[in-house]
Amino acid sequence: EDVLLSVENLQTHFFTENGAVPSVNGVSFSIKHGETVAIVGESGCGKSVTSLSIMGLVSSPGKIVGGSVMFNGQDLIGISDKQYRKLRGNDLSMIFQEPLTSLNPLFTIGNQLAEVILLHQNVSKEQAKEKGIDMLKKVGIPRAEKVYRSFPHSLSGGMRQRVMIAIALACSPKLLIADEPTTALDVTIQAQILGLMRDLVQENDTAIMLITHDLGVVAEMADTVIVMYAGQVVEEADVFTLFEKPAHPYTQGLLASTPKINELEETLTSIEGTVPTPESMPTGCRFSPRCPHAMERCITEAPPLFSTEADQHVRCWLFSKEEAAIV
Ligand code: SF4
Ligand code: MG
Repeated sequence: EDVLLSVENLQTHFFTENGAVPSVNGVSFSIKHGETVAIVGESGCGKSVTSLSIMGLVSSPGKIVGGSVMFNGQDLIGISDKQYRKLRGNDLSMIFQEPLTSLNPLFTIGNQLAEVILLHQNVSKEQAKEKGIDMLKKVGIPRAEKVYRSFPHSLSGGMRQRVMIAIALACSPKLLIADEPTTALDVTIQAQILGLMRDLVQENDTAIMLITHDLGVVAEMADTVIVMYAGQVVEEADVFTLFEKPAHPYTQGLLASTPKINELEETLTSIEGTVPTPESMPTGCRFSPRCPHAMERCITEAPPLFSTEADQHVRCWLFSKEEAAIV
């Protein structure tokens, strides 16, 4: 079986004074070994909560209340924090825009990087140091030897982010979850990091779950694209089909707002309105208040995912006649 990660009907809720607020609402998808899957959508669509759920990093008042996350043959829902810690930074690695797993302030960058390399690669201490410095250079850190000997507090936020990326890549993980990994970095460094991630895929058959607003990055990196809206998957397609024949009106809106810079966020204004909050979820299709094709049925009935001839999965009534619903 070449499926590495299989997420089934994932439900993650946040428990507030006003009750349970579903942030991820029945999300299913899978990632094969060596596959790069991009997850796109506006802020508040549930992309990051989906990745935190997979990483076991949803904290109170959030809670996974349903579904399963099979990774490498193991169901991750309900495993202990200790088991999760073992997985993270090993088979399962992550890069966040705002590094959640901060560097240990008591150890040098070199200590922390070499530790990971020694754990994952069969090399001597001297070789680990060489490789560590090489990784720092690869993520665009100037004066890498000096940084290698430095403590985290002496580095800027951007530098620390690059160190985190170097550490995540040094693990040779089976799955790398990257949540807006390069958004905060300048274009040159961004290109270097993406190149590094592509090398990793090829050398180690690493799968990447890439969460991004940047459709340019999606086009360059992804095999498969998942579009999320209001806590649900609304379209899934291979990258060529998605760009050539986007099916869901929301996906069409995303693509129509061709990003001029890297910030899809800004250009999304061409789709009128905003993502509904879980507290004010429209009945029927969640996109209906913003959809130019909304029909009467869309207001009252929530569409399931349909399959198209091009093998897309689309959560939209416009596709109800193409083939039988798959969910
Ligand atoms: Fe638009 Fe209706 Fe399709 Fe929803 S189901 S995306 S409202 S056409
Ligand atoms: Mg994915």
